[in-house]
Amino acid sequence: MKNLLVLGTDTDAGKTTFSLLWMAAFGKDFAYWKPLETGPSDTEKMRRLVPGARVHEPHARFARPVAPPLAAREEGKVVPPASLLVERTPATEPGTSLLIESFGSPFSPLNDHELQIEFLRRLEALPLLVSSSALGAVGRTLSCVKALAESMPPFAVVLVGPRDDYAETTLARVTGLPVVSLEFPEDWSAVGVAVSASRQMAELQELRDALNPDTGSRNESAPVLLAKDRAWIWHPYTSLGETEAPLPVVGAIDEFLITADGRKLIDAISSWWTIHYGHRDPLLVQAANAALRTIDHVAFAGVTHPWAVELAGMLLSTMPWTGGKVFFSDNGSTAVEVALKMAYQFWCLQGEPGRIRFVGFRNGYHGDTFGAMAVGRDPLFFGRFEPLLFQADILPVDADRLDEHLRKHGAETAALIVEPLVQGAGGMQMHSPEALVRLHEVARSHGVLFIADEVMTGGGRTGTLWAFEQAGIAPDLVCAAKTLTGGMLPLAATLAAPHVVAAFEHPDRSRTFFHGHSFTGHPLACAVAAAHWKRLTTAFPEAPRRMEAFWKERLGPLREVPWVAEVRVRGSIAAVEIAAEGGYLADIGPRLRRACLERGVWLRPLGNVLYALPPFEMSAESLERIAGTMSAAVRSLG
Ligand code: PMP
Repeated sequence: MKNLLVLGTDTDAGKTTFSLLWMAAFGKDFAYWKPLETGPSDTEKMRRLVPGARVHEPHARFARPVAPPLAAREEGKVVPPASLLVERTPATEPGTSLLIESFGSPFSPLNDHELQIEFLRRLEALPLLVSSSALGAVGRTLSCVKALAESMPPFAVVLVGPRDDYAETTLARVTGLPVVSLEFPEDWSAVGVAVSASRQMAELQELRDALNPDTGSRNESAPVLLAKDRAWIWHPYTSLGETEAPLPVVGAIDEFLITADGRKLIDAISSWWTIHYGHRDPLLVQAANAALRTIDHVAFAGVTHPWAVELAGMLLSTMPWTGGKVFFSDNGSTAVEVALKMAYQFWCLQGEPGRIRFVGFRNGYHGDTFGAMAVGRDPLFFGRFEPLLFQADILPVDADRLDEHLRKHGAETAALIVEPLVQGAGGMQMHSPEALVRLHEVARSHGVLFIADEVMTGGGRTGTLWAFEQAGIAPDLVCAAKTLTGGMLPLAATLAAPHVVAAFEHPDRSRTFFHGHSFTGHPLACAVAAAHWKRLTTAFPEAPRRMEAFWKERLGPLREVPWVAEVRVRGSIAAVEIAAEGGYLADIGPRLRRACLERGVWLRPLGNVLYALPPFEMSAESLERIAGTMSAAVRSLG
């Protein structure tokens, strides 16, 4: 059963009347909490008028009936920040939910820096909007529903006061939400409230059903969900003989994952390096909602749309060349596949179809499709497919070795592909900007195309918008995916430099790049990505540099631990490599994962490499918790 959050269009909308009726009707399943009170206490009113209701104390109560920051100031106090109030949410007994009553309107000031909505949107509760049925109900309610649509749309509307059928039906038609009318109790006594609740039970029950619709698995307990998962689902990178259950995640907010069994875990790996600022980032939720009011999807061949055009312009403006083009797709492997195909076709169009080799680097990972496997060539992951893979030469990240290789095979090589500065899935292996400069020089000197796979590093993770910027180089092709939409929706892009594009610009249709996917350039994903990149390119986040200093200070001491082989840090990425036999399959990985999970932090080691790559916007406390957890987990291996 879900928690219920009672919002009002304004003060005196009828929030307390609604809460009293709800608690009188369903008090055995709910506990009441009004986190902040000013003026006469609603908490006391609840105790008086619904005797026997479970009632939690407010977090703060101020005497004067004005905005909480003002009322607090008059008492020489301050209202705590939203993040702290959320932490203070009372625990509920098993089988019980909270009814949380807000004050004023969701947009009333909470303290001197935040509006109440900053607090409310972080609560794990479904919002219901209460409005007075007095004259003006339609306009008043619609303004609030519209304002809330961006960040926390209500699941139902309640009109409190004398019944107004016109307002009720109009609101239902325009909002598409369940709209229910509730009248005031005739008598403001405990008996009067109980009688009123029982008379209006049908309306209250309608709201309760809307709060907990029959959503199948989403309402199931963790054990049932996991049993069905085990029977029906084949998970990525997971042996079908695996005995450990997956995390049953039912929600996410900021840096946290919420599980079906009530845990709130820190997502320290940003959901496979996708989530950029935080889960359900309000800016991105707003962009998705806004786009959804106009468009869903349209195929991208022979069609364009403003969302893709805006994003493409923004992405190209971050490239080291002027001009060029963006080819959209929908995941990192495909962005790589596109780059490899473009590189080969580029040479064919120049009359050099014999350039059938590629160069990849040891510990490199570029995805799981065939081309990506060929240039990744990890023996454990892809060894089985070896007979099916095209020719790629895997070298150490070393310019001299590359030079030696290309002296022999340069004329048959189409391109090299590298993850600039940090090789992610290969164990967060890092190399210097100087090493990258040298690789680029050597590729240039042999006329081989240079593909930067920025699927993980793009968007500022390493301290600059693109990792290749730190080497001051200009790749011929750049692959981006995971963080393009801030992690909210799947989207990928392959950016091609002007001279690559030029080879395809020809009236002869046989020179077409024949490639495309159903969801290429998805409008919703492009809309979200445009909002995300506008923010990223307007003010580059200081988080990566701040985190880099933090990791060095907190994780550096692990170098002294005898079984630690190396501690590596670059921007927001930190990795601790354990000296252990067995590589990726070393049982140390699951041991570390469990140790971190027990401490409330979701980390998924790459074999013997424990790493963190958290979202940019997380509290100092959460960041400390990740570092503390990593240190404790590593030390516990002794
Ligand atoms: N390239 C790099 C550098 C990656 O890290 C990944 C994914 N880990 C990919 C490509 C493949 O991306 P996707 O999982 O979206 O196919």
